[in-house]
Amino acid sequence: MEHSVSAPENLETVRAAIAAAESEAQRPEGSVRLVAVSKTRTAEEITPVIEAGQRIFGENRVQEAQSKWPGLKAETTGIELHLIGPLQSNKTADAVALFDVIQTVDREKLAREMAREIKKQGKSPRLYVQINTGSEPQKAGIEPVEAGSFIKLCRDDLGLSISGLMCIPPVDENPGPHFALLAKIAGENGIEILSMGMSDDFETAIAFGATEVRVGSAIFGAR
Ligand SMILES: *Cc1c(COP(=O)(O)O)cnc(C)c1O
Repeated sequence: MEHSVSAPENLETVRAAIAAAESEAQRPEGSVRLVAVSKTRTAEEITPVIEAGQRIFGENRVQEAQSKWPGLKAETTGIELHLIGPLQSNKTADAVALFDVIQTVDREKLAREMAREIKKQGKSPRLYVQINTGSEPQKAGIEPVEAGSFIKLCRDDLGLSISGLMCIPPVDENPGPHFALLAKIAGENGIEILSMGMSDDFETAIAFGATEVRVGSAIFGAR
């Protein structure tokens, strides 16, 4: 049988690689936050990673997160939960209730629903706009050319505070230009948080200025 490396050991390896990439890019130590992507993993698989000190987690489905995270959050203080998957407008209330960060604001209808729910629930999740940097028809996200006007609509018309941008580059392309484009749009719109980079390309993303990387399989193993 293969020796399988435990998730806490993988977590250490990923942390070390992030630190090395920060140093390589001459960025301050600790300038990149690690979002451990726990989608498809059970609470039993996630617990050892929490015990190893990880506090920031990403999930891509509201219902799945609802089944795991209220219990895990009750057991540990300081958990920060990010929604990184597409959000249906009719799940906005549940998402606002559960998540600390919603990374996938990707259309006007959702932004309007979000504004309504945030007011109603008196909550203030951090909000990021997802940008479809590769203009892929099947992929969620705002078109790069429309990013400025969408962010302005969110801020000025809907009163939403947009603090970050996220992207998922096309699988078959060099991700560098996509990360550079996201960084450029952030700069033009006074946005500080850049959520980009996954297991296969987080070091590249850090070189292009990522402030958050979303890493799943490099920590928890192949899905
Ligand atoms: C699954 C997922 C990740 C993590 O992917 P890995 O390749 O397992 O690191 C990151 N971001 C999003 C949006 C995802 O859906």
